Amino acid sequence: MTAAVALQNVFKVYSTTPVVNDLSLTIQPGEIFGLLGPNGAGKSTTIRMLTTLTQPTDGQIFVAGYDVVKQPFLVKQQIGVVLQQMSVDVDLTVWENMEFHGRMHHIPPARRQQDIDRWLEYVELGDRRDDLVKTLSGGMKRRLQIARALLHEPSILFLDEPTVGLDPQTRRRLWEIIKGLNQQGMTMLLTTHYMDEVEYLCGAGFSGSATPNRIGIMDSGKLIELGTLDELRHKHGQGLVMKQTGDRWDYKFFPTLDDANTYFEQQPHKAGMMVRPSNLEDIFVELTGRGLD
Ligand code: ADP
Repeated sequence: MTAAVALQNVFKVYSTTPVVNDLSLTIQPGEIFGLLGPNGAGKSTTIRMLTTLTQPTDGQIFVAGYDVVKQPFLVKQQIGVVLQQMSVDVDLTVWENMEFHGRMHHIPPARRQQDIDRWLEYVELGDRRDDLVKTLSGGMKRRLQIARALLHEPSILFLDEPTVGLDPQTRRRLWEIIKGLNQQGMTMLLTTHYMDEVEYLCGAGFSGSATPNRIGIMDSGKLIELGTLDELRHKHGQGLVMKQTGDRWDYKFFPTLDDANTYFEQQPHKAGMMVRPSNLEDIFVELTGRGLD
C-alpha cells in the first residue's frame, strides 16, 4: 500500500538555521495523525512543505505517492488544505467561494454544482450559500474552508490548527465533522495546540479501522516522540504523582495508577501531593519542558 505521506530525512533551513531537522515520518492511508509541538517547533513549515507551499532544503517528500518537488500539480490534486489563516474571500458569497475553487480545479459544471451542494450540506452551511462570507461567524468560516478543501475530492486533508480561536461548542461540532470524514476513509494530518483535540481525534482508530491513529511531538525541528496515545501513555507511565513545591508542581510518572497510589501511600508527608492518571499534556510537558502557549 502506498503511504499517504512519506518524509525521508527532510530538512528546511532558513539562513543557516534548520527549522525542520532530519524529519522522517510515514502516515498510512486512513490515519488521523496529530502533530504537536511548542511554538516554533516546525509544524507549520512541515505542513507547508507537504502541501507544496515551500520546498524542502534537503530530503524527499512523497504525498499520495507523488514527489512534492517534482510533481507538485499531482500532489495538489490529491490534497485539501485548511490553513490557520482564513483563506476564504470575505467579499464573495459562500457559494461563490466554492464555485471559484471548483473552477480552479476544473471540476465539470454539473458535478461541481452537485458537490458544492453536498459539501455545504455536510458542514451545515446549505442555508447560508448566498450570504457574504464577511457576515459569517468564525466557526462558519472554518466550516466553509473545510467544505472548500473537500470539493475536488482529495484523499488527504491537512488541517493546521483547525479550531484555534473557536468557542467550545463550535470546536466540538468541527471535531464531529473531522471524525466523520475520517470514518469515510479520509487521511488527515492535523496540528493543534489543544491536547483534548488530539486525545479526541487521534486517541484511537474508529471501530473497524485497521489504521491506528498516531501522535507525533516535534521540538526544535525534530520529531522527539511518535506513537499511539496508548503507546505514549504506556511508555511514559499511566500514573502520576504531583507534588506542589512553592508555586510549581513536580511530576513523577509511574507505570500504572496503582504504582502511583502505592508510592503516595508510602510518603510520610502527603500535604501538597496528588495522584491521578497521566494524560497527553503531562507527557507533552515532560518531553518539551514547557507548556503550550
Ligand atoms: P510552528 O508551526 O511549530 O510554530 P513554524 O514552522 O511556524 O513552527 O516555525 C519554525 C521556525 O521557523 C520558527 O523559528 C520560525 O520563526 C521560523 N520560520 C518560519 N518561516 C520562516 C521564514 N519564511 N523565514 C525564516 N524563518 C522562518
